[in-house]
Amino acid sequence: MKVDYHVHTSMCGHATGTMEESVLAAIELGLDEVGFADHLPFLYTDDPTLSMKPEELSIYVEQVLTLKEIYEDRITVRLGIEADYYYETVDRVAKMLEAHSFDYVLGSVHILSGWLFDDPREVHRYDTLDIDELYHHYYDVERELARSGLFDVLSHPDLVKKFGHRPAADMGSEVESLLRELSDTGMCFEVNTAGLRWPAGEIYPAKQFIDAAHRLGVPVTMGSDAHSPGDVGRDFDISLAALKSAGYDELATFEDRVMGRAPLP
Ligand code: ZN
Ligand code: FE
Ligand code: FE
Ligand code: ZN
Repeated sequence: MKVDYHVHTSMCGHATGTMEESVLAAIELGLDEVGFADHLPFLYTDDPTLSMKPEELSIYVEQVLTLKEIYEDRITVRLGIEADYYYETVDRVAKMLEAHSFDYVLGSVHILSGWLFDDPREVHRYDTLDIDELYHHYYDVERELARSGLFDVLSHPDLVKKFGHRPAADMGSEVESLLRELSDTGMCFEVNTAGLRWPAGEIYPAKQFIDAAHRLGVPVTMGSDAHSPGDVGRDFDISLAALKSAGYDELATFEDRVMGRAPLP
C-alpha cells in the first residue's frame, strides 16, 4: 500500500498548483491513497500566507470531497487536515475539528511560546536560544499534543531540526517518553520527507526515533508535506528504506478517524 497523507493546497497561501494536479500526480506515481492535509486555520495569527481563513474551511472540505468522488475509480482521496497544537487555541481547534468528518487529523507543533520556529522569516531567533533547552521544550509540547487527544498522527516529529540546529545533549529519553505518550493515546507518527528539502537534510523524524518507535510498537504513516504537485510522494524510497531497516512491515491508514493497517510497499 502506497499512501501520501500530507499534501497541502494553495488555500494555505504558501503552496502552488491545484488540488486536482496533486491527485493526478499521485495517480501518476501509482499511490493507492492520497490525503490532503492542508493547514487548519492557525487562529494564533491571521497571516494569509500561513493558512486559510476559518470561513474557508468548509470550501476546502467540499473541494476534497468532490475530488474524492471524481477520482474514486483511480485512487482513494482522503480528507485530512494538519492542525496545530498550541495551548492558547486548543478549544477553538477542537471545535473546528468537530465540525467536519475528517478521515484523519495530523497534529503539528509549529509554534513555541509565540514563536513560529519553522517560518524562515523567524529563523534568526535560534541564535538567541539554548538549543538543548529548545529541544526539551519542543518535546514537552509534543507530549502535551499527544495527551490532548485531538489528533491521530504526530506530524514531522522532530521539526525543530528544520534549519539545522542540533542539540548537544542526547534526546533519546525525550523521544522515548514522547513515544510512550503516543502509544498510550493510540496515535501514530508520520515519516515526512520535507526535511530533505531544508537545511536539516534528512527526513522527519531521525532514524533513532523511527527505530525506537518500532521497538515500542508505535504505528507509522507517510507524508511528503508537498506544497506543490511535483512534491507529492517525493523521496518516499528514502522513508521506506528507513522504515524497513527499523523493522516496520505495515503502515497505518485512516478512514473516518479509525486507524487501519496495510502492508508496506
Ligand atoms: Zn505549510
Ligand atoms: Fe507542519
Ligand atoms: Fe504540512
Ligand atoms: Zn507540516
